[in-house]
Amino acid sequence: MPSSPVFVNSDITQPDVPILRERLLDWYFACKRTMPWRAEIGKTPNPYHVLVSEFMLQQTTVQTVIPYFERFIERLPTIEALAQTSLDDVYTLWQGLGYYSRAKNLHKAATQICDLNVFPQDIETLKTLAGIGPYTSASISAIAFDHPTMPVDGNVMRVMSRLFAIAEPKGTKLQEQSQEAVHIFSGKQDNTHSAQALMELGALVCKPKNPLCDTCPLSHDCQAFQTQSVDQFPILIAKAAKPKRVATTYVITNQDGHVLLMKRPDKGLFSNMFIFPTTCFDFDPGALPNLTILKQHTKPIKHVFSHFDLELTVVCAETAEAITGIWVAPGDLPQYGMPTLMHKVTKALKITDH
Ligand code: SF4
Repeated sequence: MPSSPVFVNSDITQPDVPILRERLLDWYFACKRTMPWRAEIGKTPNPYHVLVSEFMLQQTTVQTVIPYFERFIERLPTIEALAQTSLDDVYTLWQGLGYYSRAKNLHKAATQICDLNVFPQDIETLKTLAGIGPYTSASISAIAFDHPTMPVDGNVMRVMSRLFAIAEPKGTKLQEQSQEAVHIFSGKQDNTHSAQALMELGALVCKPKNPLCDTCPLSHDCQAFQTQSVDQFPILIAKAAKPKRVATTYVITNQDGHVLLMKRPDKGLFSNMFIFPTTCFDFDPGALPNLTILKQHTKPIKHVFSHFDLELTVVCAETAEAITGIWVAPGDLPQYGMPTLMHKVTKALKITDH
């Protein structure tokens, strides 16, 4: 196990680690939120539920994930059911959650686990599965199997940076030092709770702004709190502005009233998903003969991607030509796995409010 971090401020009494851990766990047992993937105290966690939740929670809040998780588990209650269903089914259940590569990787990871005939428990094997890196492997290993490994997400990193006054800006060094520091909370047992307790503390108490230090179980040993410097941790660095892109999406109707969809390729943004033909996604409206523009939606749709911001103009058009493609009755659109961006389009045009 890595050594305990050295407290930066030597005026502060070094923490009694067992007591610190006990305070954290007492707080967690009293204050933790109920989540459908979280096992009740004393019950064994379901590794499949932990796996699905870990994929869904990447870049997404707990409140957003809960209804998706419940629908997903109702439809695919076991890892075998997930491995055996089609990727299109998974996309349909995932639509609206965004970051669809997670759905693809989750489906593949389920297949890999079924091929292994056993759910891997250790970090090294978990990391060989699709979409599972250092954080997710540590999280599954600790939460589902009580292994003494502590995952460090953004919440935990913030707690560590304040608890130990780690004077590093957000980034690799802070991640590494937090990873080392957090191991004081692991032990022979209760790692499933310690790991979740630190995440929960970061989400509910040690919040980015206005942390609730007066109610925090770690305040007695928190260097930032004890030195009245909570607002200085973690050290923030200015983010570079994201590039802006503009594009046009075409909602094209044929004589049957069906709309044209395109399926994205296997790789890249929105891989394997269905979208309306869109200029920044390999669509050239000049390639379609006799397209009649009906109207242009007045307000462009704004959408934030991780690496750029998009402003999307929506154009409604019709064609009398027999164009080969995926033509779908508007009422059937919810059956197609479409990304959130396309749902914004259908909502703007009141095609469907799904
Ligand atoms: S005392 Fe305040 S700053 Fe320190 S860990 Fe608790 S909430 Fe965070």
